[in-house]
Amino acid sequence: MTEHLLKILVVGDGNVGKSSFVHRYVNGQFNKSYKMTVGVEFSVKVLHWSEDEKVRLQLWDVAGQERFISMTRIYYKGAMGCAVMFDVTSSSSFLSCRHWKQDLDNKATLPNGESIPCILLANKCDLAQRVVSANSIDRFSKANGFVTWMETSVKENENVGEAMRRLVQEILSV
Ligand code: GDP
Repeated sequence: MTEHLLKILVVGDGNVGKSSFVHRYVNGQFNKSYKMTVGVEFSVKVLHWSEDEKVRLQLWDVAGQERFISMTRIYYKGAMGCAVMFDVTSSSSFLSCRHWKQDLDNKATLPNGESIPCILLANKCDLAQRVVSANSIDRFSKANGFVTWMETSVKENENVGEAMRRLVQEILSV
């Protein structure tokens, strides 16, 4: 049995749904009053990837800030992949994804010097007040070197597991 230990980051502006995403993915719950913590925390989830492969995911969530801030190298150290999240009802959270991705490209590199694989998550797609179109997400995702992008709703449990599977698949294929 091979066990892969993967450190994965979840970044994005405050209030886009990062903590809820990690909580839903790891504990299978959506809790509206989920407390926003300050700082960085990680949660662990084990996947039975194939008959002879296990994946132990360490999910690092940056919590407690409203807008983009450049993260320290310690946070990025050893990361193998990242989910960059925004809220489809907030154009400013979408615009921030450029900064999050640039910071990742500068600091989160694999031993071969390449950027770590990143997936772009358009969260809260259950809400009617959407302001960011699929077209602009698609263009942005391609122009900025994301593996792919997906619409998610942590609330409705849409694409949460799928998004993580896609990212892990990409990491293991490198
Ligand atoms: P974070 O600051 O990025 O960690 O965001 P939180 O996980 O604290 O979520 C911010 C708010 O958005 C909370 O009130 C969540 O309940 C809500 N939220 C998270 N995901 C969704 C979603 O997919 N749909 C809707 N409607 N609300 C969501």
